[in-house]
Amino acid sequence: MREIIQGGTRRVVVLGTGGTIAGRASHSGDNIGYTAGQVGVADLLGGIDAPEGTTLIAEQVSQIDSKDMSFEIWQKLAQRCAHWLAKADVAGIVITHGTDTLEETAYFLQAVLAPSKPVVLTCAMRPATALAPDGPQNVRDAIAVAGTPGAQGVVAVCAGTVHSAFDVQKTHTYRLDAFGSGDGGPLAYVEEGSVRVLRNWPGPQAAAPLFDRVVSATSWPRVEILVSHAGARGAIVDALVVERKRGAVDAVQGLVLAATGNGTLHHELEAAALRAQAEGIAVVRATRCTQGRILGKPNDALRDPGSLTPVKARIALALELLSAGA
Ligand code: ASP
Repeated sequence: MREIIQGGTRRVVVLGTGGTIAGRASHSGDNIGYTAGQVGVADLLGGIDAPEGTTLIAEQVSQIDSKDMSFEIWQKLAQRCAHWLAKADVAGIVITHGTDTLEETAYFLQAVLAPSKPVVLTCAMRPATALAPDGPQNVRDAIAVAGTPGAQGVVAVCAGTVHSAFDVQKTHTYRLDAFGSGDGGPLAYVEEGSVRVLRNWPGPQAAAPLFDRVVSATSWPRVEILVSHAGARGAIVDALVVERKRGAVDAVQGLVLAATGNGTLHHELEAAALRAQAEGIAVVRATRCTQGRILGKPNDALRDPGSLTPVKARIALALELLSAGA
């Protein structure tokens, strides 16, 4: 579905995927007892003025609670983004999204598209039916970022703050300002429609081969995340290895270990992970700390993804396996 909302010579495309921003509750005082993904994206643009000379186009890609995000929806989203980004008069794209997996979608799209135009994910912590919803202002801010000259790459906009796809993380369960960029800090702020840039936008890379591989894939390599913790054991890893040795159809191909501190693992989990690696499973250690990166040592037996969080490391590993033909 596609609708032209305003008139103008350049276009900003708003793709809807669902989330709380499109959520409905039975009464306006309820900010938590709602159903996500109910209001169409064209309706989310009601009452929002397009910047001068800009046409807004709304297109519904999915209508889900983002906790249920899937590879199939990511494929479709990447395709719709590529379609619109290729048009000379499209300045940028806004994606309305749930907060729960927003950082994963942002990282996925940056890795697959690495766009030279802005792709701006936005969201809300309160449903559209709330007494004071935060969605409309976030959408307005996201449209401003998507139309900013020089903006590029995949970013997220929430509560007036712009975060890079590489750094963005949901950091709060309830507050409207629910996202952070960790050590990197925000990329920009949006103030009354004007964007105050603090540091570089995520850069474009040669992404075309990965894009083709991703959109043509019929399945997504299975990569599981396991957390190292006090009393951790290797039994789950060993069970996954057994399943793979039995030739299970969707056997695990990669493991991300959410490690303690600077990439350390409980010795039982580490021993099992090394056994899994020896069996051909790709194993990566990502830190479970919310800030900082793993500083690797020359004799590390299991590799690390630097500053990527476990959920982003999972996407990076799955894309690596996919491009290697797994
Ligand atoms: N569960 C919702 C979602 O991610 C939460 C939100 O959007 O804030 O779709």
